[in-house]
Amino acid sequence: MPRTARIALNRPLRRLFDYQVPPGMELNCGQRVKVPFGRATVTGLVAALDARPPAGITLKTILACPENWPALPPETFQLLSWASAYYQHPLGECLFTALPPALRRGQPAEERAETFWKALAGGDSLPANAVKQKALLQWLGHHPTGAATRQIIQAGFSRAQIRSLRDKQLITEASPTPAQAGEMPLIEGPHLSAAQLQAARQLAGPEAGFTTSLLYGITGSGKTELYLDYLKRHLDTPDQALVLVPEINLTPQTVARFERYFGLRVAVWHSGLNDSQRLNAWVRVRNGEPVILIGTRSAVLLPFTRLRTIIVDEEHDSSYKQGEGFRYSGRDTAVYRGFLNNCPVILGSATPSLESIHNARSGKYRLVRLEERAGQSSPPDIRLLDIRSRPLQAGFSRPALDAIRRTLDSGRQTLVYVNRRGYAPVMMCFDCGHMVECPRCDTRLTFHRRDRAMRCHHCDYQVAATDTCPKCDSNAFRPVGQGTERAEDYLAECFPDTPVVRVDRDSTQRKGSIQHILKQVNSGQPCILVGTQMLAKGHDFPGVTLVVVINADGGLFSVDFRAPEQLIQTLIQVSGRSGRGEHPGEVMVQTCHSDHPLLQSLTRGHYLPVADQLLEERQTGALPPFRAMAIFRAEADSMEQSLQVLDRIKPLARGDRLEVWGPLPAMIARRADRHRAQLVILCDHRKHLNTILTRICQTLDETKRAGGLKWIIDVDPQETG
Ligand code: ADP
Ligand code: ZN
Ligand code: ZN
Repeated sequence: MPRTARIALNRPLRRLFDYQVPPGMELNCGQRVKVPFGRATVTGLVAALDARPPAGITLKTILACPENWPALPPETFQLLSWASAYYQHPLGECLFTALPPALRRGQPAEERAETFWKALAGGDSLPANAVKQKALLQWLGHHPTGAATRQIIQAGFSRAQIRSLRDKQLITEASPTPAQAGEMPLIEGPHLSAAQLQAARQLAGPEAGFTTSLLYGITGSGKTELYLDYLKRHLDTPDQALVLVPEINLTPQTVARFERYFGLRVAVWHSGLNDSQRLNAWVRVRNGEPVILIGTRSAVLLPFTRLRTIIVDEEHDSSYKQGEGFRYSGRDTAVYRGFLNNCPVILGSATPSLESIHNARSGKYRLVRLEERAGQSSPPDIRLLDIRSRPLQAGFSRPALDAIRRTLDSGRQTLVYVNRRGYAPVMMCFDCGHMVECPRCDTRLTFHRRDRAMRCHHCDYQVAATDTCPKCDSNAFRPVGQGTERAEDYLAECFPDTPVVRVDRDSTQRKGSIQHILKQVNSGQPCILVGTQMLAKGHDFPGVTLVVVINADGGLFSVDFRAPEQLIQTLIQVSGRSGRGEHPGEVMVQTCHSDHPLLQSLTRGHYLPVADQLLEERQTGALPPFRAMAIFRAEADSMEQSLQVLDRIKPLARGDRLEVWGPLPAMIARRADRHRAQLVILCDHRKHLNTILTRICQTLDETKRAGGLKWIIDVDPQETG
C-alpha cells in the first residue's frame, strides 16, 4: 500500500506537493483528494504515488478522497501530462482544466437530475401574441416522449417560456425512460454522391488504429454529411466519439443535425453551459456512456474511456489555440489523444492549416480530397477588382456597387466582408493632422457611430466622440478608413428599400441575436449582409450569390508571418458562402495589388496550390512548420524591465540549429499601460527546443521577480506580433 502521494493542486506553480496516505486509503493516479494546504482544505489530484519525499520533513496527511476511482482515467491523465510538458504549463493547472467547475470545488461527481418536459392538451387557450410559447408547444409536440430542458434551450427557447407554460399547465414534467433513445425517429441521411463515397472510402476506419486523415473538402462539399456517415458506419454501440468544432459553429442547427442521426447519444460541451450541464456531460463521458460529444476546444480534455473516433472540423480555425493561461492547441492535442487512444483522427477543412498540409505532404497524415460541391451548386468565380485608380465611395468601387444592384434586382442576396468593426478605425483632423490615440496603448481609437464613442480595441478605454478636432477645434475632423458600421450606413443609403444586416461582435452581443439574423437571411428575401470574420464561419446562406470583399490588402504585407495564410483562408471561406443554392456564385475582391502572386493564384480557385506556394515561402524563411517556434513574452511597468528579463534568459537559449530573435518590443508595445516585449526562439528539433524551454522556465521561476513584472511562454504561437 502506498505510503506517500504526490498531489497536484490548482495553482500556477511548477511543482507538486507530498502528503502521507492514511492507512486503509486506496489511491490511484488521477484520483481526487482533499488535503490541508496552508490553513485551508483544498481539492487536489494524485499525480504520483510512493514518491520519495525529502528526508527529515514531516508530511501532512490526506484528509479524504471523494470517490474511489480516478476522476482522470489513465489516458486522460497521460494526455494532460504530455500537454503540460509540451506547452510548458504547470501540471496542476493543466489537470484541473479537465475537471468541470463543480468537481474543482470538491462537489460530488454525480449527475444532477435533468428535468424532462412533455406537452399537454389545451394549447389553443394561449393568446395570439404568445408566439414563442406556441412555437415551443408545437416543438414539444414533435417530441412525444418529452425533451430535456437542455434540448429545449438548445432549440432556441428560454427558461422563462418553459416556466410560463408550466404555470399555465400546458406542459408537465416527464421522467425519461431508457427506451427513449429508441423511440426518437432517427433519420437516414441523403445518399452520398460519387465523390463523397470515394472520400468516405479513403478515410481509415477505427479498426486501423491511430491514423490521422486530413479531409480537404471545399466549402459546401458536404463534410458534415461525411462525418455523420462515418460515425454511423464505424461506431459500435458502446463506442464514444468526439467532434470538435469552433465555438461559433456550435449552433443549435449543427447539434440538431447530429441529433437527427443519433438521438440522445449526442452530448454537447461549450462555454454556454452552466455548472450542472457541464457536470452532467462530464459524468456521462467519464461513465463510459456511448456518447457522441460535440464540443469546443476544451472537450478534447474530457475523460473519455471508450473513445473510438475523433473529428476536428474547420481544423485551421485559430480559436482552437487557447489564447491565455494553458495555451494548448485543441487540434494538436486531439491528434495526440488519437495516438494515446489508438483511434482515428479526421481533420476537416476547406482551407487546412499549413501545418496540416505539411504533415500530409510529408506522409504523416493521409490526404483525402473532396473537391466537388454537394447537390446542384458549383464553386464561385473569384474576381480581383483593382481599385488603385478608381474613386471609392465609403470604400466601395462603382463596379462593386453595380454588381450589388444587379444581384438585388434579380431577387438574391449579397454579402459584404469588411475586416473591421465600428465606423472607422481612425478619426483625423485635416487641418492639424491630429489622430485620436488611446492614452493607455500605442494604438488609435476606433470611432463607433452608433453610440457616438471612440473605443480602443486593445483595452477597455473609451471616450465620447467629438464633432471637432480635440486639439485645434477644427471642423475638418473626419473618419478615415472603413468599418462595418460605415459600410452598413452607406449601403442603406444606396439601397433604401433593401434590409441591410450587420453581423459583428457589436451587433451580436445579445444572446440569440445571431439566430435572429440567420432567420431573416434564411427567409430568402433580397438583403445585404455586412460583417466581419464572423460571416466567414460555417454558415450556409443559400440565397447569397454575390460576395464583395471591401479590401484584401491588410494581410498581404503584415509583420505577422501567419497573416497571408489567414487572409487566403478568410477569402476562401467568405467566398464559400456564395452560390450554395441553385444559382452560381460570384466573388469580387477589391485590392490595390491585383498582380500579387497570392491573389493571382487565388483567382484560379483552388486552395491547395496557394497553400503550397505559402509553404514554400515558409520553408525559405525557415519558419513553422519547418521549424518549431516558441515565444517568451514579458510585460511590465516599463519597457526597460520587460527587455531586461528577456535579455537575462537569452543566453540560456543556445545550442545547435537554434535561432533567437529579440528581445524586441511587441508590435503594440504599450497596451493598457503595460510595456510588452518578446523573445522568439526557433529550432529544428522540437525535443531540443523543449529541453531549453524547460530550463528557461525553471530559471525564471527561481529568480526573484520585480514587482509588476509578468512573463508567459507560448509554444506554437498563433500570433507573433
Ligand atoms: P460542408 O460541411 O462541407 O460545408 P455540409 O455537410 O454542410 O458541407 O453540406 C452542404 C449542404 O449540402 C448541406 O445543406 C447538406 O445537407 C447538403 N448535402 C451534403 N451532401 C449531400 C448529398 N449527398 N446529397 C444532397 N445534399 C447534400
Ligand atoms: Zn486639428
Ligand atoms: Zn487602449
